[in-house]
Amino acid sequence: MSGVRSVDVIVVGGGPAGAVAGALLARAGIETVVLARGHDGGRGGEVLLPHVAPILEEIGAAATVSGLPATRPSGSVTYRSGDGAHGAHYRFIEALPPALPTAIHVRRDQFDAALLGHARTLGAEVLEGWAAITPLWDAERLIGATVRDPTGGEYELRARALLDASGQQSFLASRMGWRFPYPRHRKAAIRGAFVGVPPNPDDPAAATVFLGREGWLSVVPLADGSAAVGLVVEATAVARHAPLADELTRLAGAVVPAAAEWLAAASPAGEFTLVQGFAHRASRLAGNGFCLVGDAAGFLDPLLYTGVLVAMAAAACAADDIVDALSRHRRVDSVDFAPTVALTRSLHRLYFGLVRALADPRFLAVFLAGSRPLRAHAAMVSLLAGDVLRPGLWHRALRPRLLKLAARTSLLPLARESAERGSRR
Ligand SMILES: Cc1cc2nc3c(=O)[nH]c(=O)nc-3n(C[C@H](O)[C@H](O)[C@H](O)COP(=O)(O)OP(=O)(O)OC[C@H]3O[C@@H](n4cnc5c(N)ncnc54)[C@H](O)[C@@H]3O)c2cc1C
Repeated sequence: MSGVRSVDVIVVGGGPAGAVAGALLARAGIETVVLARGHDGGRGGEVLLPHVAPILEEIGAAATVSGLPATRPSGSVTYRSGDGAHGAHYRFIEALPPALPTAIHVRRDQFDAALLGHARTLGAEVLEGWAAITPLWDAERLIGATVRDPTGGEYELRARALLDASGQQSFLASRMGWRFPYPRHRKAAIRGAFVGVPPNPDDPAAATVFLGREGWLSVVPLADGSAAVGLVVEATAVARHAPLADELTRLAGAVVPAAAEWLAAASPAGEFTLVQGFAHRASRLAGNGFCLVGDAAGFLDPLLYTGVLVAMAAAACAADDIVDALSRHRRVDSVDFAPTVALTRSLHRLYFGLVRALADPRFLAVFLAGSRPLRAHAAMVSLLAGDVLRPGLWHRALRPRLLKLAARTSLLPLARESAERGSRR
């Protein structure tokens, strides 16, 4: 590429959101360039909730992802208190119908490479190692970006629309002053792999989350015999300069002792990474010629494994918005992205509300209680499975109970979300 080039759409970022958008746009015959700078650090293993599967099927990548070497299916997830005294095992098959019974655990490097390769196969031009540097504006309309190739060469890339799928870095929001941290959620995550982790007694394939007052720890078994372990604590609790694997073990002992005991027989393997400042929101999600999707639009906490689902769902919606707008008027205006903005905001309210609710010991006690009335249990499983992208049934079952619970425990954000969803129907 040299000088100035024009395409239909620029997608900034080659994570799950960027790859899904690239695949769908290219398949619709839209000239699409995906700028995939690559990850700054190891990502390790992650859980893809059951309702990621229909999106993978929609783009035609389900079989590829299932066949990746570390991919492991799992029918359930276990949540335990940090001291191990309480716990709930959620089986996805127990969700409100139609239940999708299987989550899959993936290694993110394999998953991201497979999705990007798939987008390329469908016709997207994937520029690996390329980064968007500066947005280009014509008054209120975004018209492209300056981009940098892996050798440092800079070019001007113009487009009818730019999808910002740049993850936590939030390319546009950072450059434009729209990125704001959540002041009461200054967390850090240490993540890496362990080998020799004893199996989850409820289900050897299931992920386990230990929830403590000061943090939480997740263990995600993979098919290669390792387990991805992530610990999230207050950012100030992490000692600088200490080896990260040692720090993870020390902090686990302090905030989730049952997890530390469980991991005592296991050994850290490979690189550990520290992720900080991930809780943020973008104050503006779309405008003439642009839209922010996935983590670029906002993120609170990985506790419920919802990040990839939200990112892929918003990206698929934004791709639809672009295809529709270009076919109608050959440009994409702010209003054309209204469905994506509404979807992103509603998913943020829902899941961020649930994460905040789980910080309330009274709600946590209910969440970890073994016995629940059948329908509320099924509704909760639907939420945990990611069944939030269709006019689902979960809120019908859960809403009255949540409102009652909210009255007792002041869980207002979640109650408000539930009520809004009910009244929109
Ligand atoms: C500790 C931790 C554990 C998690 N575990 C889970 C889990 O188990 N399940 C789950 O669903 N979610 C999990 N998440 C969240 C999940 O990782 C994210 O929500 C998801 O990756 C978001 O996808 P994305 O495509 O929006 O962004 P990303 O996956 O971050 O992809 C963005 C890409 O854009 C690139 N980029 C950035 N700036 C530029 C630029 N200027 N030009 C070009 N490229 C650029 C980045 O390098 C990156 O490759 C976890 C998050 C954390 C912090």
